[in-house]
Amino acid sequence: MIIKQNAKSLLIKSNGIESVFGNDFYMNIYRGCSHNCIYCDSRSSCYRVENFDKDVIVKDNAVELLEKELVSKRKKGVISLSGAMSDCYMHIEKKLELTRGCLNILDKYNYPVMIHTKSDLVLRDIDILEKINNKTNANVLFTITTINDEHARIIEPNAPLPSKRFKALKSLSDKGITTGIAIWPIIPFITDQEKNINELIKYAHLAGCKYVIFGDALTLRGKQREYFYKKLDEAGSDLAKKYKRLYGDSYVCKSKNIEKIKKIIRDLCEECGLETKVSYYQVKEPSQISLF
Ligand code: SF4
Repeated sequence: MIIKQNAKSLLIKSNGIESVFGNDFYMNIYRGCSHNCIYCDSRSSCYRVENFDKDVIVKDNAVELLEKELVSKRKKGVISLSGAMSDCYMHIEKKLELTRGCLNILDKYNYPVMIHTKSDLVLRDIDILEKINNKTNANVLFTITTINDEHARIIEPNAPLPSKRFKALKSLSDKGITTGIAIWPIIPFITDQEKNINELIKYAHLAGCKYVIFGDALTLRGKQREYFYKKLDEAGSDLAKKYKRLYGDSYVCKSKNIEKIKKIIRDLCEECGLETKVSYYQVKEPSQISLF
């Protein structure tokens, strides 16, 4: 169900984890996500989202609100359209065009943008991203956890396939837009094979990416843990039993090879000339006129 709301505020200052993604401010145009990744932490009971996979709350007035907030903003910074617990290019965006509307406002007021998505729908807005990039900076980060489209159909059932995401990255890079991938989370027994990690980095390099970031663990708790195990069972896998035995009630579930995997990522990125952090764009404030 789509639940439209009239929001009172939009922009939030980044702190901690959000700024890892190279932005100074972020916004949540949507809450809830139709990509339905089976490992999504946003499904956890602590966030109190009743029907995370079915309901999407929409800030219907996001475009007007963004313009109003930017007009009175004194300090410029990188603005991310990708907040928490959603993807600014999930299916409903195709019809509502709120992300596109917000990009137009960022372009109008000369703000750099950071997009974090799993959807090649971002290509629809390549014209505005190019305009922003010509003036300041546009940076697009795709989360890609597996190179294997068949595995992705199980763990990220409604998100565009990894092969489509890499094609989108190449199209964006070819236009001079900064791009990167997030290998996040690294899921024990599913995406933690050396071959998968190697290929993700090689494909990122071929797609013209500038950086690769990674998370070192899958997180599971309460309702989300039950959902993840149920989806593994439905896929005919016996991994749930293995997880229960190995991780019990642990929130953090790390691959036993995680240190080796991290080394592979760092070494291969160095070899390919990729950074292991998001390329951050520093906004230059106009210098003050000196009287002397
Ligand atoms: S795209 Fe992100 S927010 Fe959406 S379901 Fe997947 S992990 Fe959750």
